[in-house]
Amino acid sequence: MPPAPPSAPETVTLTPTGDKLSKHFTEKEFACKCQARAPWIEPHKQVLPPKELVDVLEDLRGWFGKPVVVHSGYRCPTYNKHVGGASRSMHMKAIAADITVVGHTPDEVSAYLLKKYAGKYGIGRYNTFTHIDVRGGPDRWDNRR
Ligand SMILES: [Zn+2]
Repeated sequence: MPPAPPSAPETVTLTPTGDKLSKHFTEKEFACKCQARAPWIEPHKQVLPPKELVDVLEDLRGWFGKPVVVHSGYRCPTYNKHVGGASRSMHMKAIAADITVVGHTPDEVSAYLLKKYAGKYGIGRYNTFTHIDVRGGPDRWDNRR
């Protein structure tokens, strides 16, 4: 399994396998969920996450010592629209993940990310999960209700 080049993740189009991307993460965890949740969408190849994103999730895994659950990784444009994602969502570039950490609240997770990655990445706070993406410049938002 060739690792995704961090500079150009969008050029990597592999059908996901059970292959590992890192010690704790597999390709399948980042695959678009359209075929399971919106099967009317035409099947498509997947775009794998860049190593930089996987490294951040491994960092979280190590810090909390608990599994990190990826609820949404790559989204094809049609599925992104279906779930009400932003029109320029980083999920469509496969550089974003909506995550939770088993046994920890989203507030704990976002607090760690905001401190550790101050001044970089996209970090979004939600009631039930945390969004992280590895875009260059910092972006922050709080969608908690
Ligand atoms: Zn899809």
